[in-house]
Amino acid sequence: MANACARARRDPATVKLLAVTKVFGPESILDAYALGLRDFGENYVQEMERKAPAVSALGEARFHLIGHLQSNKTKKALQLFTSIDTIDSTKLAHKLATERLDMETPVVEAAPVEAMIEVRLSHEENKSGADPAGLSAIVSAIRASKHLKLTGLMAVPPWSEDAELSRPYFAQLRALAGEHAIPELSMGMSNDLEVAIEEGATWVRVGTALFGRRKKA
Ligand SMILES: *Cc1c(COP(=O)(O)O)cnc(C)c1O
Repeated sequence: MANACARARRDPATVKLLAVTKVFGPESILDAYALGLRDFGENYVQEMERKAPAVSALGEARFHLIGHLQSNKTKKALQLFTSIDTIDSTKLAHKLATERLDMETPVVEAAPVEAMIEVRLSHEENKSGADPAGLSAIVSAIRASKHLKLTGLMAVPPWSEDAELSRPYFAQLRALAGEHAIPELSMGMSNDLEVAIEEGATWVRVGTALFGRRKKA
């Protein structure tokens, strides 16, 4: 990350590390927290639910949902995550906003949940994310609710050995964020995070390079 920031003449403080702990047990989160990491990414609501009791004492830990969110899991997701990074429809945005409101009590106003929109930039079948053509509507839906705070765009380009092949996708995401004045860009994983930083990433999501290979589930 430091090397990429130096090459791109960027202040390293403008790029944050999201430690992706999917598949690994809660002890990996505890270890990483002890080393100073504070932001963690999980792909599944149920997996986070299993780990939550073991990590509940980590006062400064923040958890991001980076996997596809099914509409029947929104309530749970709102209880477990500080940021939902994979909103991909206006319907999902509305459902999250409504359920956040339901979490309010007469004396406690529910803080907005941070939200990112996942954009599908390639034409791969069965890939999640919003079509760029539908982005404006989702941006408006999120910005219309005081229970959601739009922080960024997120994308996962098609996987490749060659990180350079990710570059045009990253540039495209940056352009979309610029059009909508969205500040954060979550892009880049273990294999292509340096290219992502050169293209403007403010979050890189790193699993393998921090924790080692994941065992197949
Ligand atoms: C698993 C995953 C990552 C981390 O990938 P690595 O290649 O292990 O760094 C990042 N983002 C998403 C959405 C993932 O599912």
